[in-house]
Amino acid sequence: MDPVCQANTFPGTTIRSRTSPLGPKPCSVYGNVDETRNRVEQQRMANSKIAVIPGDGIGPEITETTLHILNEIGFHADWVFLEAGLPAIERGLPPMPPETIERIREIGVALKGPTTTPSGGGHPSANVALRKALDLFANVRPAKTLPGLKNLFEGKNIDLIVVRENTEDLYAGIEFKPDPDMALAMKVITRPGSTRLCKYAFELARRQSRKRVTAVHKANIMKMTDGMFLEVFHNVASGYPELHADDVIVDNCCMQLVTRPERFDVLVTENLYGDIVSDLCAGLVGGLGLAPGANIGEHCAVFEAVHGSAPDIAGKGIANPTALLLSSVMMLRHLGHDEKADRVQNAVLKVCGEGIYTTQDLGGHASTAEYGENIIKAAKL
Ligand code: NAD
Repeated sequence: MDPVCQANTFPGTTIRSRTSPLGPKPCSVYGNVDETRNRVEQQRMANSKIAVIPGDGIGPEITETTLHILNEIGFHADWVFLEAGLPAIERGLPPMPPETIERIREIGVALKGPTTTPSGGGHPSANVALRKALDLFANVRPAKTLPGLKNLFEGKNIDLIVVRENTEDLYAGIEFKPDPDMALAMKVITRPGSTRLCKYAFELARRQSRKRVTAVHKANIMKMTDGMFLEVFHNVASGYPELHADDVIVDNCCMQLVTRPERFDVLVTENLYGDIVSDLCAGLVGGLGLAPGANIGEHCAVFEAVHGSAPDIAGKGIANPTALLLSSVMMLRHLGHDEKADRVQNAVLKVCGEGIYTTQDLGGHASTAEYGENIIKAAKL
């Protein structure tokens, strides 16, 4: 493991990015997740624009706090605010308007708040539309024990990354009713889609000096679809002899994640399993309020929390902005702003680790804004 990151498992320690003779070697905690950094770096120098989608529900509250923190620590971008989710629908637009997609395609980088998708009917998912339109094939979701934070799994040293396929599987959205009493959904797994995802996961593991990549599947039952995913995984693995590659059936994986989560390092999986397993992983490290993520494609990257729009707490000013803030840390690393990323990340470790000024989901009493001010104070120390 990266020694800089190992140090991070103790309260009060800080993280510094470092440069090796092989180029930048980002810390594995919420590290750089992009393979196309050189191209994005060029784009960044030419253009400081970053797209922002506040979304709906708690989205606007946590986005405001996140941008305020970034501004206060000295990260000034030309933020381009774009609509999606309920605000777009209220204006008669699709949940993910084509103009929003095109602007993100031009800009190349976006920070996105959550958007509501009703269950069992209503409008289609804005997220699925965005991920498919921009071919954001890899959804990277790290889960890391925050030192000092009180939670059910505080004794465990969890530091894993779920790499979820983001455009195929049952989320391809091919559903139909051949008769009123039967509904069918089609599971789409392709060899090229599985190959690029598995390669991405192994490259990420190599870049972050990880030890193990585990494929999560149900190939014992879905012999063709998951069977092909598994076959591809092992083929790709043979190109990375320094990494231990193994696989686990998804139900067993869930059990083992709860009983011995420290066994896992990088998990690579299909869309549906990845969605479920990454929420489970968020629960292991303190809940959805702490779980960041990135959607990575060849040409664009969209950074967003794992959690949804949390309608039960929306508008109350109590949402935890950490997941979106840590997503912005991943974005800063992606853009090459490692020093600013370290500052925000260390401030989160400090404030959450001390446990005094945390939001209600972490057992504290701070509002979203108060928590944000304490992050700023900690970042300026
Ligand atoms: P959710 O993640 O919104 O909320 C689950 C629980 O976690 C709720 O009790 C909520 O209060 C809590 N929670 C979530 N984020 C929190 C935060 N930052 N701080 C404190 N508590 C937080 O999941 P859900 O209720 O199943 O979904 C609500 C809506 O969000 C649905 O319409 C769903 O489709 C959508 N959704 C969107 C995204 C996205 O935009 N990326 C992801 C998941 C779900």
